[in-house]
Amino acid sequence: MAATLRHTDVPGDGWDDLRRRMVDDLRRKGIRDPRVLEAFAQVPRERFVPSDHRGLAYVDGPLPIGLGQTISQPYMVAAMTEALALEGGERVLEIGTGSGYQAAILSRLAREVVTIERHAPLSGHAAQVLRELECHNVTCLVGDGTLGAGSGPYDAIVVTAGAPLAPLPLLAQLNAGGRLVIPVGDRGIQTLERYRRAGDEFLRERLMDCMFVPLIGEHGWKS
Ligand code: SAH
Repeated sequence: MAATLRHTDVPGDGWDDLRRRMVDDLRRKGIRDPRVLEAFAQVPRERFVPSDHRGLAYVDGPLPIGLGQTISQPYMVAAMTEALALEGGERVLEIGTGSGYQAAILSRLAREVVTIERHAPLSGHAAQVLRELECHNVTCLVGDGTLGAGSGPYDAIVVTAGAPLAPLPLLAQLNAGGRLVIPVGDRGIQTLERYRRAGDEFLRERLMDCMFVPLIGEHGWKS
C-alpha cells in the first residue's frame, strides 16, 4: 500500500543507518558497555519521538514530547543506563517514563522494568508504543515516583528528572548492592549522582553535569 511520505520521514532502511551512526557516536563519546550499545542498536528511537520531530530522532539531543516534557538526549540515556551496571537478572524502577524510550532500553538489559510517570497521557502513549514493540517485561504506572513504587525492592533505580535531593523512599527501596542513578541539583542544572547501597549505608559518587526537567512530587520540587 502506498504511504504518504512527510518531509520528516526517512524512507527504506534509513532509520537503521541513522541508528548505527548514533551507536558509533555513543561509543566515541565514551559509552563502553557492549550490552548497552547493543540495546541502542536495537530500539527504534524514532517510534518514541512525536511525528513532527521524527526527522531529528537520531540527533544527540533532547526533543519535546508534549506537556512541557522531553525525551532525553541519547548520550545521557546511555550514560545513566551504563551507570546502573545491569547484567540481565535485575528488577529495575524508572521514575519519569516520558516517551518510554529509556524504559525500552532497560527492558533489553534487565529482567523486569517498572516505570512510573505523573502525566497519565504520556504514560498511556508510552505504554502503547512499548506494547507495539513487544517490550512485555515493562509495567507502566501513573503516580508520584518520588514515593517509590509499591512492589519494591529494586536492584537498580533510575530517575530521569532533576531532584533537589535523592528521595529517601527511593533509597529505601534499593536492595543490598542496589544502585540509584539520579540528577541532583537546582531546577535548571544538576549533577548526575550514583548511590550504592552497602548495608544501611549509601556510597555516593558524582558522575557528570546534566540538565533535566524537574522532578515534581512529595520528595521532589513542588509544581
Ligand atoms: N525517561 C524519559 C524522559 C522523560 S523526561 C524518556 O526516555 O523519554 C522526565 C519525565 O519525568 C517527564 O515526563 C515528567 O512528567 C516525569 N516526572 C516528573 N516528576 C515525576 C514524578 N514525581 N513521578 C513520575 N514522573 C515524574
